[in-house]
Amino acid sequence: MTAKSMEELTSLCKRRGFIFQSSEAYGGMQGIYDFGPLGVELKNNLKTAWWQSMVYERDDVEGLDAAILTPQKVLHYSGHEETFSDPLVDCRNCKKRSRADHIIDGKCPYCGSTELTDPRPFNLMFKTNVGPVEDEESFAYLRPETAQHIFTNFKNVVDSTSRTVPFGIAQIGKSFRNEITPRNFIFRVREFEIMELEYFVKPGTDEDWHQTWVDLRLDWWERQGVSRNAIQLHNVPKDDLAHYSKATLDLMYRFPHGMDELEGIANRTDFDLGSHTKHQSKLGLTADVKSNRDSTVRLAIQDLSTNQWFVPFVIEPSAGVERAILAVLNEAYEIERLENGAERTLLRLPPHLAPIKVAVMPLKRNHEQIVSVARETVKKLQFLGLGRITLENTGNIGKSYRKHDEAGTPMCVTVDFQTLEDDTVTIRDRDSMDQIRLPRTELSAHVTEAIRM
Ligand code: ATP
Repeated sequence: MTAKSMEELTSLCKRRGFIFQSSEAYGGMQGIYDFGPLGVELKNNLKTAWWQSMVYERDDVEGLDAAILTPQKVLHYSGHEETFSDPLVDCRNCKKRSRADHIIDGKCPYCGSTELTDPRPFNLMFKTNVGPVEDEESFAYLRPETAQHIFTNFKNVVDSTSRTVPFGIAQIGKSFRNEITPRNFIFRVREFEIMELEYFVKPGTDEDWHQTWVDLRLDWWERQGVSRNAIQLHNVPKDDLAHYSKATLDLMYRFPHGMDELEGIANRTDFDLGSHTKHQSKLGLTADVKSNRDSTVRLAIQDLSTNQWFVPFVIEPSAGVERAILAVLNEAYEIERLENGAERTLLRLPPHLAPIKVAVMPLKRNHEQIVSVARETVKKLQFLGLGRITLENTGNIGKSYRKHDEAGTPMCVTVDFQTLEDDTVTIRDRDSMDQIRLPRTELSAHVTEAIRM
């Protein structure tokens, strides 16, 4: 089951501390959100799950954490200065601005007027100045994607790791786009994180690798609770392709506001490395005598069978963290009708994504011995390194269960009077609400088994 509306999700996110409007006390900032105590855990867990599958479960991918501030030249040569724009229209009646491709029936989405200007390109990149002097030289951008610094670091990574194709460079990080109309909660925002892999391959093998990455990414989404049935593949028409792309397959997900892009998997060919190489050759930097490379191609790699240098093609699976969180929350969201007619709201998050792994609850909040055993249990579990383990000392077990159902906590452990006699605890499962009794000595193994990916 999923949420019936975006409001259901936004309300849960605020109530339980997942996501807040940024600078809310000052009226908020459109398209900017903050992640609260549960949100930061979910976000970190999701990024870890991506890194796990992209880097740790493979032998052919290196990681990178590059700068956000990007010199103007990088985004000039990458083609972003010229083409990274959306078509903007102004409404002559209400003066609001919209994306031309979001206009339906030629009417302003705010006031319904048909008095709209012709579309004109609006560049989405945020500009800033680096250093105390604001002039042409100090002018820089906040990166609109993480990919460009992967390309500009290509040689550094290859030289320091001795990689040859096929291999990839993975990066997760903040990106900024001055979206004309941010909307649909965290779906379209101006500051967000992207999880990006640039996978370098030999030209000619690129189309097969493209398909391989589509399959791998669909498997990954399934492991995050977003089933194959919830995703549709969209082959982006030639006219809509980004300037760098030969072919792009978008994974479309049924968000509460409708079917929309969750992840893009593009065949960027040798466009980016090629463009940066052209810049290097203009500066006369391409001759690399030490490594005896072809003097016209700096961002190249050697084919070990022929000793030829070539610019690799690149396949790029690129997924926004915020959209991933929205999809994962939506898939996990459920309002369940209980036998007694009451309802409970729960998040059936996969345990490895759950913000809190275990909540330990003393049956009586003021009972010294019970609370002390509960505290000791929490400490023991915390040192397993599985994520957040909390003490929930309200004394109202039923209420605490409901709270943790909404937080997606997979297990609640109750310490009661029997614990003091035989050192056993009750473990209550979030999804089935079944309860089992286990010796405390077996708790660590039980929790580890249940939480690990
Ligand atoms: P859209 O067509 O929705 O504007 P895009 O095709 O421009 O997206 P890409 O450039 O392919 O997006 O970016 C890769 C991924 O980054 C997207 O699939 C999406 O998950 C995420 N993303 C892009 N723009 C935003 C945004 N403004 N807010 C949140 N996530 C975004």
